[in-house]
Amino acid sequence: MPDYSAPLDDMRFVLENIVDLPALATLPGFEHAEPEMVYGVLEESGRFFAQEFAPLNQVGDTQHSRRNPDGSVTTPDGFREAYERYVQAGWAGVPFPAEYGGGGFPWLVAIAMQEMLTAANMGFSLCPLLTQGAIDMLLHYGSEEQREVYLPKMVSGEWTGTMNLTEPQAGSDVGALTTRAVPADDGTWRITGQKIFITYGEHDLAENIIHLVLARVPDAPPGTKGISCFIVPKFLLNEDGTPGERNSLECVSLEQKMGINASPTCVMAYEDAVGYVIGEPNEGMRYMFKMMNNARVSVGVSGLSLGERAYQQAVAYAQERRQGRAPGAPKGESSPIVDHPDVRRMLLTMRAQIEALRCLAYLNAESLDLATNHPDEDTRTRAQERADLLTPITKGWGTDLGVELTSLGVQVHGGMGYIEETGAAQHYRDIRIAPIYEGTNGIQAMDMVGRKLPMRAGGVMADHLAAIEDTASELAKGDEELAAIGERLADAHAVLKETTDWLLTNGLSDPNNALAGATPYLRMCGIVTGGWLLARAAQAARDLLDAGEGDADFLNQKLVTARFYAEQLLPQAAGLAPSVTAGPSDLLHASF
Ligand SMILES: Cc1cc2nc3c(=O)[nH]c(=O)nc-3n(C[C@H](O)[C@H](O)[C@H](O)COP(=O)(O)OP(=O)(O)OC[C@H]3O[C@@H](n4cnc5c(N)ncnc54)[C@H](O)[C@@H]3O)c2cc1C
Repeated sequence: MPDYSAPLDDMRFVLENIVDLPALATLPGFEHAEPEMVYGVLEESGRFFAQEFAPLNQVGDTQHSRRNPDGSVTTPDGFREAYERYVQAGWAGVPFPAEYGGGGFPWLVAIAMQEMLTAANMGFSLCPLLTQGAIDMLLHYGSEEQREVYLPKMVSGEWTGTMNLTEPQAGSDVGALTTRAVPADDGTWRITGQKIFITYGEHDLAENIIHLVLARVPDAPPGTKGISCFIVPKFLLNEDGTPGERNSLECVSLEQKMGINASPTCVMAYEDAVGYVIGEPNEGMRYMFKMMNNARVSVGVSGLSLGERAYQQAVAYAQERRQGRAPGAPKGESSPIVDHPDVRRMLLTMRAQIEALRCLAYLNAESLDLATNHPDEDTRTRAQERADLLTPITKGWGTDLGVELTSLGVQVHGGMGYIEETGAAQHYRDIRIAPIYEGTNGIQAMDMVGRKLPMRAGGVMADHLAAIEDTASELAKGDEELAAIGERLADAHAVLKETTDWLLTNGLSDPNNALAGATPYLRMCGIVTGGWLLARAAQAARDLLDAGEGDADFLNQKLVTARFYAEQLLPQAAGLAPSVTAGPSDLLHASF
């Protein structure tokens, strides 16, 4: 059974050196989240996830969630019990307000926990992830009564939540949805329509499921301007708030998928189901946009999570498996494959990108926390801008890397990687969905060039570029090793700046210019931002070593990783420039 252990030292290094957890813990509302307490929470939850959920990962993959003839859904063996213990331990509510029974911790802590839970069992982790999205929506836009009725049970995990956007004709184009909501005499609504691909739309883990459903009210304007959001509980509530009569909705089938087999992906049918509008009718899309960042960062983190799990497994396998003789090894003896340069290349490529991704995801989460809790308005605004800019990168680059990292994990295993028994293939199959849902990565790239790049007339991206340039200049003053990293970072910065300028100049005059280059540009942003953050990690490691603090072996490895990234991965950014600036001509002339 493949093991997973939470990479607590690596996580702590990022929390202390790339983001500023101690400073976050001084902000109003986060005072109790002092670093030692947070490390305790991460250590304990990491152990819990590794013990409870990691061993169920392969069980979930082989057994799948199953739909019964009566429409109920049974999750794989062990999931119910593990979920019950998860709820009892209080892990579900860590980032939510204390007034609803949550822990009131920063989102940064939730993201670190999400990293571990998803690595332990991605198929399971989607249940809390979707519930978090639904909680977030109710926190921001639910009425006081709705918050009081639903949130305590959802925050505790006793009830779970879903997000119902997709319909057969409405995927990326959410505005094409046709599910109807008609007002009833008593102020409630009746919802009718079919939703597809609904994650954990039906299951046996919790006593109630709170569906958030996007639908159209009568005379709603067409497209995204006419979308409203409704609470549609599986069981309507009794006067005392307990689940009562069954609502008129059901899971009519489950999809057979490539991966995340434990996660039931449901076709949901609503037939005059009782619903309660959230906020104002026709404002649903605006509400969804507001809370998209959190969900997109979480999905981006799944690339990190499965990359980390695949890496741990690949390292263990490479140390054990013996083949051929590595250069310099004694004659007549086979070497563990970890001694072969090409296997080391794969492992170090994995490690470097995983560490870069962790820095990026945590920085993104910290920006979200600063944007909500910092007392200074200007700081809040800047933090929100940074979160907005980083989110498509975390989601798009993070999940693309997730696929590449898990593929490398398979490759390190050789033929055994292709055989299901090792579990390496499962990570690859599981993560393949992540570039597709929560806005495909093509849509993320369009968001980057169409919405994020133009923020403050390019000013937000200019600030980001300036931060990268500052780090490069700072490193130039360091020792030979840091200066070399700084030099590579300066080159990558120049390329990103040049292509950004090209997009700002040519993309506004002809949107096709920006759309044609959007995906390579998003990747370039990821590669360079990752290089920037690992350069900062190198600098922090050097400072700690010079001060005689920390574990020297651990810190020296940070330098090795950062140098490898700067020298061998960061230069890939320049190779993308021609695709970003090519314009649409070839694409539009091709016939299919
Ligand atoms: C396992 C799984 C779980 C899911 N969970 C949920 C859930 O819980 N709730 C929910 O509501 N939905 C869920 N989804 C749906 C998911 O969010 C959609 O599949 C996704 O948004 C893409 O929509 P689509 O499948 O219709 O693809 P399409 O929109 O048809 O896209 C097909 C391709 O065309 C591209 N494309 C589409 N439009 C454009 C455009 N304007 N410009 C450029 N390229 C474009 C896309 O990038 C993609 O490559 C889930 C899906 C799966 C498979």
